[in-house]
Amino acid sequence: MRIPVNEPLLGRDELRLVGDCIRSNWISSQGRYLKEFEEGFAAYCGVAHGISVTSGTAALHLALLTLGIGPGDEVLLPTLTMAASAFAVSYCGATPVFLDSEAETWNIDPEAAEGYLRRQAKSGKKKVKALLVVHLYGHPADMDRLREIADRYSLFLVEDAAEAHGAEYKGRRCGGLGDLGCFSFYANKIITTGEGGMVVTDNPRLADKARRLKDLAHSEHQRFLHTDLGYNYRMTNLQAALGLAQLRKIDRHIRIKRRLARAYAQELKGIPGLRLPTEKPWAFSVYWMYALTVEEPFGLSRDRLMAALKERGVETRSFFVPMHQQPVYAQGGLPCRRFGPYPVADEASQKGLYLPSGLTLTRAQIRYVAEQLRLLSPIHGRKEGK
Ligand SMILES: *Cc1c(COP(=O)(O)O)cnc(C)c1O
Repeated sequence: MRIPVNEPLLGRDELRLVGDCIRSNWISSQGRYLKEFEEGFAAYCGVAHGISVTSGTAALHLALLTLGIGPGDEVLLPTLTMAASAFAVSYCGATPVFLDSEAETWNIDPEAAEGYLRRQAKSGKKKVKALLVVHLYGHPADMDRLREIADRYSLFLVEDAAEAHGAEYKGRRCGGLGDLGCFSFYANKIITTGEGGMVVTDNPRLADKARRLKDLAHSEHQRFLHTDLGYNYRMTNLQAALGLAQLRKIDRHIRIKRRLARAYAQELKGIPGLRLPTEKPWAFSVYWMYALTVEEPFGLSRDRLMAALKERGVETRSFFVPMHQQPVYAQGGLPCRRFGPYPVADEASQKGLYLPSGLTLTRAQIRYVAEQLRLLSPIHGRKEGK
């Protein structure tokens, strides 16, 4: 048995819509599916505008460009995230400021953000322009708290919702809560376009600017005249067709993820040393990945557990390596600011892993994974260090 850590769920609807693009010759960055996908996904997030792009990374870069973030500016973000969140800041020539996370959800710690901003205010400087929040592994960050901080210090609030399509904070969907929200449609995300991404916003001015910048920034008045540096981040109609077919099933995908989380919670109950993911009372998590940490009482380190599971056909992934530890920032000389220490991020990145969480995972496979964990756990008398 080999159980992959993730797999997309594709079907006949995807084939039909993509086939339609090919039959009709609408394969590039114009066509009806782009408009339908953008409008449909923005509406799903509870906002008016969706700007499709080539990847989640491009979405993040475009969002920060749209806000005018550039050299000399600082952007606050959690150190425990995927490299794309930090790289997007660096692409703009701005400086990422790495902050620790909250222990319970692994999302950005609002206290740390406030601490940094207070210190900067005292020194009379104002370099921080934006707060980039990541809804890690499908669990929303504490948005009211973060919005309050952003407002108090006049910062833009940007969401990296690449792992949180459909996740809700107090009944409102992630991505639609900040000034701009960024999504990825990579193959392992809640819905996919193969590669792809989207920026969503309720602000028509920001939407217009993002739309121009992603298409080489042609002047509004004259094509082939450019007053700004533009990019080609255009999604294709083929990708949008795939995305539209997926969007129609997004609630089903989320139901599958949540059912999977419930099943794991049930099966793993009572195994000592496994800290299972939680859901805050105000949160609706989409459990993009079933993420847990392996604590001392389990007796095996995270890495040894991953190796043992692999031998038994169970693919897992470790948590992200925090950005403050990344060679490209730590030794590579790429500008960044540390605001450590980082007890939560450091510990999570050493102890955290995610279990197979694909949309095609069966109940029997979940039972098998849990059974292997149980067999490897101390309650089965496995000797320390073996
Ligand atoms: C996947 C992901 C991205 C990047 O998306 P791509 O489409 O792979 O470029 C950015 N941020 C987070 C948190 C992600 O998980």
